[in-house]
Amino acid sequence: MKTIFEKIIDREIPAQIVYEDDEMCAFRDINPQAPTHILAIPKKPIATLAEVSAEDAPMIGRLIHRAARIAEQEGLENYRLVVNNGSGAGQTVFHLHVHIMGGRSFGWPPG
Ligand code: 5GP
Repeated sequence: MKTIFEKIIDREIPAQIVYEDDEMCAFRDINPQAPTHILAIPKKPIATLAEVSAEDAPMIGRLIHRAARIAEQEGLENYRLVVNNGSGAGQTVFHLHVHIMGGRSFGWPPG
């Protein structure tokens, strides 16, 4: 069964896509927790970080690199990249994603 993010990739449900290439895409979070809140995802359906293979690692590197470029395009100098890995850490969609969040200050440690 497809996750909501696979449905976004396949254009079965709408999203505000800000970046896309052959292996990844990025779109605005439907329930933003910061003035800028974008999700960057691989197109490959990888559920959690535990499923990232050595073969996937270069693509994950490019995903982080792209997340930084997207943050810059959004005018962000200070921003946070977050991966919630596992339901106990707040993961609700089991398709690996990097939250790109900025436009406000952030506390540390995160809640
Ligand atoms: P997680 O809690 O798994 O780290 O993050 C999942 C994120 O996906 C949440 O921030 C949530 O708001 C976002 N989200 C869930 N469903 C949709 C959707 O249909 N469209 C978009 N654009 N974001 C979604």
